[in-house]
Amino acid sequence: MLEVSGLTSRYGRIEVLHGIDLAVRSGEIVTVVGANGAGKTTLLRCISGTQPVAGGEIRFRGDDITALPAYRRIGRGITQSPEGRQIFTNLSVEENLRLGAFVHGDARVDRDLEDAFQMFPILREKRNLNAGGLSGGQQQMLAIARALMGRPSCLLLDEPSMGLAPILVQQIFDVISTLKSRDVTVLLIEQNAFGALKIADRGYVMETGRITMDGAADELIADPRIREAYLGI
Ligand code: ATP
Repeated sequence: MLEVSGLTSRYGRIEVLHGIDLAVRSGEIVTVVGANGAGKTTLLRCISGTQPVAGGEIRFRGDDITALPAYRRIGRGITQSPEGRQIFTNLSVEENLRLGAFVHGDARVDRDLEDAFQMFPILREKRNLNAGGLSGGQQQMLAIARALMGRPSCLLLDEPSMGLAPILVQQIFDVISTLKSRDVTVLLIEQNAFGALKIADRGYVMETGRITMDGAADELIADPRIREAYLGI
């Protein structure tokens, strides 16, 4: 579904991605794990079209989308839920969700809203409250639900577990693992390597702008190098 090859990107004159090769097949959950500053967010932004690509190619469903503007990538089914949630804290939960649906017509929005509330019952309870009053975990659920309102076929998630208490982290990973049954393909960027690999089919390890390992998620979890460097085992 998504194929990245030889991707490079830079901030000013400093190259931070040095030739990334990565593929995500339809229906998979694929994770990219790595330390702070490895370049994970930059990679995700290149895929969503919010960060310029210096070289290489991004293909989606066989089409070269490397030069396609971000809003047209959304139209093709790629949606990014950004790091730090970035919900509209002065709008209600429901208003935030409706904003996520602006890419398609009104007819489906009420049905999608109902779907979102079924998936996240807490959001139904709080639908009329300001989103700023939600807890961190609830805001993350809202960010994911809002991204799903655009009916993406490929969802890019940037550090959804960041800053959450352990019990909420598990809830968020549980929710992400259910997206498979909704035909959403997921590319998940995470510093929480263990949590991400546990729900992923495959994983990539990123270090200072390069992919250094990749494989089936269960093989990566079992790999002594990963266990030592990322899982603290
Ligand atoms: P984090 O988990 O902290 O977001 P990351 O793996 O997602 O880390 P990136 O945010 O992609 O990494 O950063 C990769 C490199 O690019 C880092 O060295 C970072 O300092 C640098 N960088 C990121 N954003 C910018 C920017 N706007 N301008 C200049 N350099 C940047």
